[in-house]
Amino acid sequence: MSSVAVVGAGPVGLTAALLLARRGVAVTVLDRQRAPYPLPRAVHLDAECFRVLQDAGVADAVRDVSRPMAGLRLLDRRLRPLAEFTRDPTVEPHGWPPDVLLHQPDLDRVLRAAAVGTPGVSVEDGAEVVDLRQDGGGVSLTVRHRAGGADRSVRTDAALGCDGAGSTVRRLTGGSMRDLGRPDRWLVADLLAPDADLWPGTHQVCDPRRPVTFMPVPGGRVRFEWRLAPGEDGAAAAPALLERHGLGAAPVERVAEYTFRAQVADRWRCGRVLLAGDAAHLTPPFVGQGLGLGLRDVHQLAWKLADVLCGRAGDTLLDTHQAEREPHARALIRVAQLVGELMTGGGAAGAAVRRAVLAVLPRLPGIADFAVAGRTPPLRRGPLVERRGRAGRRLAGALVPQPMVRLDDADRRLDDVLGTGWAVLSLLGDDRIAVRADGRCTELSSPELAGWLRTGRATSVVVRPDRIVRSAR
Ligand SMILES: Cc1cc2nc3c(=O)[nH]c(=O)nc-3n(C[C@H](O)[C@H](O)[C@H](O)COP(=O)(O)OP(=O)(O)OC[C@H]3O[C@@H](n4cnc5c(N)ncnc54)[C@H](O)[C@@H]3O)c2cc1C
Repeated sequence: MSSVAVVGAGPVGLTAALLLARRGVAVTVLDRQRAPYPLPRAVHLDAECFRVLQDAGVADAVRDVSRPMAGLRLLDRRLRPLAEFTRDPTVEPHGWPPDVLLHQPDLDRVLRAAAVGTPGVSVEDGAEVVDLRQDGGGVSLTVRHRAGGADRSVRTDAALGCDGAGSTVRRLTGGSMRDLGRPDRWLVADLLAPDADLWPGTHQVCDPRRPVTFMPVPGGRVRFEWRLAPGEDGAAAAPALLERHGLGAAPVERVAEYTFRAQVADRWRCGRVLLAGDAAHLTPPFVGQGLGLGLRDVHQLAWKLADVLCGRAGDTLLDTHQAEREPHARALIRVAQLVGELMTGGGAAGAAVRRAVLAVLPRLPGIADFAVAGRTPPLRRGPLVERRGRAGRRLAGALVPQPMVRLDDADRRLDDVLGTGWAVLSLLGDDRIAVRADGRCTELSSPELAGWLRTGRATSVVVRPDRIVRSAR
């Protein structure tokens, strides 16, 4: 059996482990911390990411610890509404709520329980990777145990660096981060305020002097994020900032300063060692996509790596990891920067411009798709994305939608019917669709899927294991 070492038991590393195990690869997850990180970080996930979690077998459990997010409300500095972008929670093109709010430690707990309970996956805490070597036969990692004792060597066929922003794996493979913008210092506070009467969405205060984001999070929590001025002492400023929102008396679970960066790694692959998650990219907080980018990385990487390790493809398939994921990550980082600038940039003139721009926001390219419809950009053309022909240009590179489909008198989510491999969907007529997947041919019925194919001027699409359309005719 082929084996992979995943460095880092954060959400990206644990999801990678589950996806690889599902594809017949043995996984050792190593984390230098003795216990999972207990404090909140990510608070938002979108429906595209839920399909990754579905493939990893944990989407229902994650939905149970999340709450649907109503949308985005923009406020002026006196907290008066400027604009509101709501998502209809009943419209689920991916088979899951369009957006949810969650408490990251809950997500991490679900992932960890699933990984620990999966045959072929072992999770070792207090195990820090301090060195790494490669030869023709695989990868050797030197692991130092926090409990003491001699370093030990772990030998695997490949390794994933899911070890976060300060990635040791990135450093050991000679990589570094490239800046895409200037860093931004923010104060982040999580309050226990179950009685706070807040609209169940994200609030963005569009005040260039003090941009603030806040939202209610499961567990009776409220997350606040304030941008700090240069040299400002965040901890000293916190009480007055909370008082402004009438929550000065609420117990504070944690308050910390974070420097948010916009960065991508220059080198995502070195032989059989690959980077994913925060080790490969960092994004500013607007649009809440840091974790989402990492989950998409490993969804695409897991099947490619499994194919290479099981001898179904050559190592050059791994070159498509950075080629596909970096432009997508850069595009979302750009959207986050643009949205941040739009909501918080520029003095009195900025406020006037903002009011004008908000009126046309739903039509701005790049932002409209993402902020209003929740769609991330399609992958660029490449060896695994054939954006050719009328249908190919419309559909290739994007996720196939996931409606409930009718099969054998039962309603099922499309991805569950497609399994873990490649699939071909062909329109037969009316709402009937032939599906070739896992060496079998079945017929199902779905008005949504048939409508999507017809709108894309396609009669047939080839769908990759990560549910991205490779080609359409
Ligand atoms: C305040 C805040 C708010 C955020 N909000 C959002 C949001 O709303 N939506 C969103 O999508 N994202 C958000 N993010 C980003 C999100 O939290 C991260 O993108 C996500 O946690 C990254 O996951 P990861 O698994 O790549 O890395 P991490 O979660 O950082 O995990 C890396 C793991 O690697 C381990 N490790 C490091 N070095 C080694 C080594 N040498 N050997 C062994 N183990 C090692 C670490 O101990 C750690 O457990 C937010 C981040 C912050 C800080």
